[in-house]
Amino acid sequence: MEIWQCATCGVERSGQPGAQEVCPICADERQYVPLDGQRWTTLAAQAANGAVIDFFEVEPGLFGLTSSGAGIGQQAMLLITPAGNVLWDPISMISDAVVEQVKAHGEVVAIAASHPHMFGVQVEWARAFGARVLVNQDDAQWLQRPDGSIDFWSGSREVVPGVTLHQVGGHFKGSAVLHWPAGNAGRGILLAGDSIFVNQDRTAAFMRSYPNKIPLSAAVVDRIATTVQEFAFDRLYNNFGSVLPHDAPAVVRRSADRHIAWVRGDFDHLT
Ligand SMILES: [Zn+2]
Repeated sequence: MEIWQCATCGVERSGQPGAQEVCPICADERQYVPLDGQRWTTLAAQAANGAVIDFFEVEPGLFGLTSSGAGIGQQAMLLITPAGNVLWDPISMISDAVVEQVKAHGEVVAIAASHPHMFGVQVEWARAFGARVLVNQDDAQWLQRPDGSIDFWSGSREVVPGVTLHQVGGHFKGSAVLHWPAGNAGRGILLAGDSIFVNQDRTAAFMRSYPNKIPLSAAVVDRIATTVQEFAFDRLYNNFGSVLPHDAPAVVRRSADRHIAWVRGDFDHLT
């Protein structure tokens, strides 16, 4: 079966798109349709065009997956746990070879994305492993490939014992983080997608749209930063593999306070 997907965001869809159809995820104000218009592709076309998947260890128990093909270019994460493995922010490409590489580390039992830009080809990955896909109820409207493998969740959801999804909202209403307290030698890891983005200078950002630079309010940024303080973690990764290696909760708090001060006007005298 041919799996169609948007060439810009890489998200899979059911069936072939119509000639005038535009990807709803890219038409939204948080993404963009390229200047030369909507383009669609397929997994087979990506493979024919030489799309490469890289699978590599990030740190003990945590692997990364990236693809040179269609999509936003996220780094998926594979968490290895005794109760089964979890695939986070799945990439927009898949191959038999990489499925075998992933399987060598144990079965993937659950797949989840931080938000709809990161859906990738999540159903295709789920079918390769017989895994469940967890989609936040508040973002169900963005699904373009409904499937029996999908379970909806909201609030918090334990994915496998010791790994929990938490809905923090902000970027999307259903935006989530994945908390893994056993990771990082027991000091804890938060996989934050871009619910909390890691900047070049290792501070954090909180945005409704990253490509279109639409900020979130002070109240929402405070809510997100306050919520994650409840979780035990020292290290935070975003959806491109960028990391706050140590003291991540304090960095998130300081970064949130900076964002709040700027949008409140504390620094208007500097502008
Ligand atoms: Zn798209």
